[in-house]
Amino acid sequence: MTSIKDLSENKWKPQDAIPQNIKDLLTTESKSSKSSNHLLAFLNIISSLKFQKRTGWMDHGIPKFDTESIADHMYRMSILSMIVPPSTVNKDKCVKIAIIHDIAECLVGDITPFAGISKSEKHRREKETIEYLQQIIKPYNSEFATEMYELWTDYEEIRTIEARYVKDIDKFEMIQTAYDYELRFGITYDLNQFYTAREAIKTKEVGELCDDVLEKRNKLVEKLKHNETS
Ligand code: ZN
Repeated sequence: MTSIKDLSENKWKPQDAIPQNIKDLLTTESKSSKSSNHLLAFLNIISSLKFQKRTGWMDHGIPKFDTESIADHMYRMSILSMIVPPSTVNKDKCVKIAIIHDIAECLVGDITPFAGISKSEKHRREKETIEYLQQIIKPYNSEFATEMYELWTDYEEIRTIEARYVKDIDKFEMIQTAYDYELRFGITYDLNQFYTAREAIKTKEVGELCDDVLEKRNKLVEKLKHNETS
C-alpha cells in the first residue's frame, strides 16, 4: 500500500496504489465465477482500513501501537449512529454512511491538513478512489456498488439529515478518542486542537453529548495540572 509521502505527486491515481497481484485478480477468471475475483480484490483493498493508523494522533505523539485504525474509528461511529440520532432520522442509513464515509482512505491514506496536500486535491483523490472501488465491486454486486457511491456522496455533500448526523458523530467520535487518550496517558500529548472540532457540530443531540465530554475533560485537565504542581 502507498504511504502519504508517496502521494505528493499531483497526478496520483487510485490504480497506482494497488499491488500487481490485485490487478491480476481483476483480469483473470476464478473457478466459481468471474465476479468473485472482483469481491476478493475489493476485500483485499479495503483490508488496509483495519491496519492503517489515523495519522492525526501519531502527528501529536501518540505511540503507533496505541493509535487507532481507520476501521476502529468507523466502527465506533457506526455504534454511535445506532444510538444517538432521534427516531425521526433513518438510523440504518446513518450506520451505512458511517461504515462507508472514510472507505476511500484505503487507497488515499489518512491525509491530515498538515500533510501538504490541498483540500481540493484530497477530494479529487477520494472521489477517484470511490469511483474506482465502485467499478471493482460492480461485477459482483452492482446494487451495492451504487449504494456505496451514493452513501459516500451523501456524506461528502451533506445532502441528507442522516449525513448531517454522521458528520457530527465523526467529530464527536474524534473528541471522545482524544479524551480516551488523555484518560490513559494524562496530558502528556498536546491534544487541545482536536477539541476545537466541537464548534462545527450542528445537531443538538451530538452537541450536548460533546459538551458533557468537554466538561469531564476540563475537570480531568484541572486535576492533572493540580497534581503536577502539588
Ligand atoms: Zn471519519
